[in-house]
Amino acid sequence: MKVRVGVNGYGTIGKRVAWAVTQQPDMELAGIVKTRPNWEALSAVKRGYKIYTLRDSLKEFHSRGIAVQGVLEDLITSVDVIVDATPGDVGATNKALYERFSRKAIFQGGEEPGIAEVSFNSLVNYREALGRNYVRVVSCNTTGLLRVIHAISRVDRVKNVRGLIIRRAADLKEVKKGPVEGLVLDPPKPPSHHALDVNTVINDLDIVTYAVIAPTTLAHVHVLRFTMERNVSLDKVLDSLANTPRILLVDGGLLKSTAELRELARDIGRPYGDIFENVVWSDSVYVRGDEVMLTYAVHQEAIVVPENIDAVRAITRIAERAEESIKLTDESLGIKRWL
Ligand code: NAD
Repeated sequence: MKVRVGVNGYGTIGKRVAWAVTQQPDMELAGIVKTRPNWEALSAVKRGYKIYTLRDSLKEFHSRGIAVQGVLEDLITSVDVIVDATPGDVGATNKALYERFSRKAIFQGGEEPGIAEVSFNSLVNYREALGRNYVRVVSCNTTGLLRVIHAISRVDRVKNVRGLIIRRAADLKEVKKGPVEGLVLDPPKPPSHHALDVNTVINDLDIVTYAVIAPTTLAHVHVLRFTMERNVSLDKVLDSLANTPRILLVDGGLLKSTAELRELARDIGRPYGDIFENVVWSDSVYVRGDEVMLTYAVHQEAIVVPENIDAVRAITRIAERAEESIKLTDESLGIKRWL
């Protein structure tokens, strides 16, 4: 029997998670919730998804000629798990509804950590999410950080992590967001919230991050510096990165910008031109004694999609082991199968 998944909030993350659910052999997309009959609702119609809305929006959908299956409550009662991909803090309001109907839910990184029993990353703490009722998939930057921290921790014990996060200012469709010029320290005083969010998953890690917002929509770029417990070798670091799921090494001689990366993803027919992997520039990996540094890109719109799929498996216990779920997810989404 397939797990029935509903997606509440059909925006940047919700539309991608909905599509990814349709690619899983053990899941079925029961429907999506859209509040407004806008262009994104039309794209859901085109994809043949069952559309649900809020009671107050029914008239608007009818007047636009978009057929709806019912209201949010109808979708909730017909699923095993809801992926809540509404804007930050809306999930907190929705939680009362999920509780009322005794449905499991997965929230996103824009929600406060307290919304869920576990803040989640597939590689780091899949087991902690097994059978839970509420799980929060951490944000795009935090997911990117956790994957790389996991890979470097496999080489040897990490004493501390220091990092700079160059954040994309907005997603492509966010026409009212900025800045369109200038770099903005966000916040001026470290740590940025990303380090604190990493600590919701690995609570004893010594990590400090700075963040700067840059006028781009394509991807974030992180520069990290690790201090290791002992001296490590470049080969071992590269080997661990190459053998960690969802981390892709690229040659800076071949491409050295987020623009080329995103174009390549489009060239090879990735859905939405998405990059689900952390893309580490192999040339940027620097090792001297106990010091490791590296630079990588995080496609903010896509990176949390595989973790949402794994969170569905963990919460419903259709896969008991992280490796099992990661393998299924990655095969179905073509992860690490590039050229
Ligand atoms: P978005 O604005 O693109 O999409 C949210 C969707 O929810 C919109 O379609 C909106 O109309 C709809 N919505 C608003 N109120 C609703 C309600 N009450 N019920 C149902 N739907 C409602 O936002 P997003 O970028 O997809 O972000 C969703 C969550 O994912 C946030 O927590 C965000 O922090 C997190 N996240 C975003 C990114 C990113 O780069 N965009 C990356 C990782 C995590």
